[in-house]
Amino acid sequence: MTLALNLAVPAVAGARLDVPLVGTDLTVPYANLDHAASAPCLEAVQDAVNELIPWYASVHRGAGFASQVSTRVYEQARDVLRRFVGAHRSDTVIFTRNTTDALNLLARAVPAGTSVVLFDTEHHAALLPWRGPHVFRLPTPPNPGDAVLALEDALRSCPAGPRLVVVTGASNVTGEVWPVARLAEVARRHGARIALDAAQLAPHRPVDIQALDVDYVALSGHKLYAPFGAGALIGRADWLRAAPPYLIGGGATRAVTSRGVSWSDGPERHEGGSPNVVGVHALAVACSTLARHWDAIITHERDLLARLRSGLASVPGLRSLSLFGPDHDRVGVVSFTVDGRNAGLLAAVLSAEHGVGVRDGLFCAHIATRRLLGSGDRALRASLGLGSTAEHVDRLIAGLHDEPRWDYALVDGRWAPSADSRPLPPFIANA
Ligand code: PLP
Repeated sequence: MTLALNLAVPAVAGARLDVPLVGTDLTVPYANLDHAASAPCLEAVQDAVNELIPWYASVHRGAGFASQVSTRVYEQARDVLRRFVGAHRSDTVIFTRNTTDALNLLARAVPAGTSVVLFDTEHHAALLPWRGPHVFRLPTPPNPGDAVLALEDALRSCPAGPRLVVVTGASNVTGEVWPVARLAEVARRHGARIALDAAQLAPHRPVDIQALDVDYVALSGHKLYAPFGAGALIGRADWLRAAPPYLIGGGATRAVTSRGVSWSDGPERHEGGSPNVVGVHALAVACSTLARHWDAIITHERDLLARLRSGLASVPGLRSLSLFGPDHDRVGVVSFTVDGRNAGLLAAVLSAEHGVGVRDGLFCAHIATRRLLGSGDRALRASLGLGSTAEHVDRLIAGLHDEPRWDYALVDGRWAPSADSRPLPPFIANA
């Protein structure tokens, strides 16, 4: 089950990509075009996890040698993450479960009375955690220039006090890249901080806190080819140091007496409980692996995205969703509808008859996706990554041209083949 696909042969002319992945030889044919949801595991990550497991022990707590090794692994990962996003030395790195957790942590840490400004296109993880009377949701802008103007207007009329802008690096619906540096420049002029939801951008492009001039970056390991349950919030330490601990318990404290608690003021203030050292190590190894291969990754995805988009354009009645128009810069994520075809059923057909894994629905960005859809209640999304090949893209396109041959029925609200001959792996109960 864990043989690597060595992509040393370029998927499309031009890129030389040698970043092997786990799980490319499943017992069913599987073209994974759902990297935007969760990416497969890098072989380097699996190897690093296997190497750490014998040493695995408690972090920050034990005097034993394995405990000291685990603590070192955990703490050195902060430096790797800091480097991965080009953070300042003074920035803090707090390990979380994922991007959702990181943005919820930041939402708890913003000082009372902070005005939070964001666009309603955000993923729910970035759209929903903010509380208080001063949350300003700006409508979907028609182009990046209008996004910048709308932010300028909103910040001009914000109440006095702290301000935070929240923006995604790349849309998880359309893949389109947001004008983060321009928005950061506006934020700065109006005394606002800016948080970057890098969940979708970080797996595709280098993210640089200093070059973009943002204050916080949130990201998820499982989208970065490190599916072991870790994510991170990286950025300015002051609000986080002053905020109430996010998870109250052991590890977050300096001292506890019968009279009160003194909380740690380092990153562990928000990392209560036993840290996920395996997940954090996996995340750090994934980040350093990607950082060594950016040129090849970008070329690989750019070429495959061009192939995907021209293939989709050949499908009758297919409409791609777009915020900023077809020529705007984007990562390898495309959502679309096909006239007269139910998106949920089509996703099931692609999976069952063509071995293609895509996502259907509203992608946890209901406002944006519904607006882009106009009518209809779901779209399909194909998303590329290191595991994608030209053959996967071609198989998707062929599947979209084909008529279904199997029978399908709705089971618990999802379309599924009435008779499914694909063997489940033996670790599934009743397989
Ligand atoms: N932000 C964006 C743009 C995303 O695409 C996602 C996940 O799809 C998230 C945030 C949330 O990530 P997670 O589910 O890892 O917390």
